[in-house]
Amino acid sequence: MFSSIFEDTMVTGNWQQVQRAGEEKQPVLFPLGVIEEHGPHLPLGADIYWSAAMCRLVKERLGALGQKCVIGAPYYWGVNYCTGGFPGSFSLKPETMQQVLFEIFENLKDFGFSEIYCFSYHGDSFHVRAIAEAIKRVNAELGIHVRLVLESMDLRLYGWQGDEEFLLVSNPDYPMEWFEEQEPSEAGLLDIHAGAFETAVLNHFCPEQVNLELAKELKSSSLSKEGMKKWLQGGESTREVVPLGYAGNPAGYQVVSKHVEEMLALQSADIAMRILKKGKDND
Ligand SMILES: [Zn+2]
Repeated sequence: MFSSIFEDTMVTGNWQQVQRAGEEKQPVLFPLGVIEEHGPHLPLGADIYWSAAMCRLVKERLGALGQKCVIGAPYYWGVNYCTGGFPGSFSLKPETMQQVLFEIFENLKDFGFSEIYCFSYHGDSFHVRAIAEAIKRVNAELGIHVRLVLESMDLRLYGWQGDEEFLLVSNPDYPMEWFEEQEPSEAGLLDIHAGAFETAVLNHFCPEQVNLELAKELKSSSLSKEGMKKWLQGGESTREVVPLGYAGNPAGYQVVSKHVEEMLALQSADIAMRILKKGKDND
């Protein structure tokens, strides 16, 4: 049961616990998200629920490996270029977000931390690039190690190679069969926002936040290449191509749900293992 994005983060502790964790140079898992429309069946906070829950899974894994860590204060103001035309999608200018993030990293450094891992599941490329720019600047100017956690299959979306200093690239060994189970009518289409995948993940982490009865009835609006172009234009163009706000097939959550728990377990184990390794490299 998911009660709060603050659960198990430094926010519910006191200042002395933060001081101790900083003195011990514990890695910080930093949950980032946005407040953004996610169709009629998911809440505006979907992305921050997801990152907060993922940080907890990784914290558990690190604990099992004997590595203490701390989950940072959740951050949820970002760039919503594509969905910015919908009420409920709050959007900052990339430069505003970069500056806020830079100062948060600066605070964490002042508390004693030097290794920070950013967890973000909001794919808007202006948003992701704003995070990357803030990280590059903070690493160069403050000499700490901040990294954005990213799956290797997503590197191409941003034109990155995977060996960039500001990334922690995870590459869990998902069984290939999982990718072959989709409905034939969805072949070649993109399920990128509040669709099958995100509905399944949210339903796993915080089922009380998902309207499943509605999700089952929603018609697919997965994107073709042409649709994707309109989606990326933002404003009215996005609303034209996805009038209800989801770009995907929410009803398809039932297929994805069969593997979602195992998928998240593989993902969190892989990330924890890589964080441990990076920590050793930094020593
Ligand atoms: Zn989302």
